[in-house]
Amino acid sequence: MVAFDQSGNVKGIASSNGDSPVMAVSDGGFISYKGITYDAKLNITGQLPNFPTLTESWTGDEYKSETSGVSQISRSGAYPASTFAAIVYGNNSFTGTAFKQAWGYPLVKCSEGDSGSEECKANGWSNSTGGPRDWIWNAKVELAKRLADGRMNMLIPRVFSNEITYKAFLTYLAKGAQFYDGTRSTATLDDALCPGERGKEISRIFKVDNIRSDGTHICNTAALTCSGYKPMLRVFWDPRAISFANNGKQDLNIATVFHEALHGFTAYSDEQLQSYLGCTSQDDTRNISYYLKQFVLEKAPTGAPPICTYVENHSIPNSPSCAW
Ligand SMILES: [Zn+2]
Repeated sequence: MVAFDQSGNVKGIASSNGDSPVMAVSDGGFISYKGITYDAKLNITGQLPNFPTLTESWTGDEYKSETSGVSQISRSGAYPASTFAAIVYGNNSFTGTAFKQAWGYPLVKCSEGDSGSEECKANGWSNSTGGPRDWIWNAKVELAKRLADGRMNMLIPRVFSNEITYKAFLTYLAKGAQFYDGTRSTATLDDALCPGERGKEISRIFKVDNIRSDGTHICNTAALTCSGYKPMLRVFWDPRAISFANNGKQDLNIATVFHEALHGFTAYSDEQLQSYLGCTSQDDTRNISYYLKQFVLEKAPTGAPPICTYVENHSIPNSPSCAW
């Protein structure tokens, strides 16, 4: 491996030993695939534990597989450099598409590093309350737990099949997730590998769908999943659609993550999911979430949950109100 400065002069040379750079870091050095850290002159400065197996979110947090709960790992000061393509192949998913972190605007956490942010202060969120990203992350962890705990045997044939296999879906969920604030993101749908009209700014979609002419909020569009992005679940949310009840481990949050994860996993459109689940094809896609919700309730139902068309007529509130 050879390091060059911007004029092409050699700054350092190191033996690669079958290793290669994966991520540039802010001090001018990089982290290799084997997790070895190098400085800008290619001197070895350290070894990270199992770097390639970790899942990195765009703000530099990392989450291990969450089967045993969320565990955050601090990577000893090694954060992505703020250049456009800090990570080889453009981003940490190796898809070849550069996706500038700032465009995405991650959902605010309010725990740890974000607690001093204006957004957290304005909403009265703190380290102890957490923020939307904590809540929806907790909902995802809880979803995986409820799907795996065996009490919902009637769920398997109603949702999973040879087409959407239960085991592969659980594996997908365990890969981690990228959760963004769709109301603030300046990414376009194609930047983020989301389906829809090319060049369309994601925040525009949320504004048009969710802000009424008098400025009040409604959550017509709660979430938008980028099904073109394969490595893990990537969702843009209206944070107001995320409930903070029970730290996010709330039935509708969990059902909504379920709905979005099915999009991410299958790349099915809403219409395809509606048809797959036996729901009526309609613009109001809450029928998917409310149908799925029955299978992941905190208290598992004792009888078999009703079919989707019954749910549509009996269990969906009139307007898509926000959680807060
Ligand atoms: Zn949907």
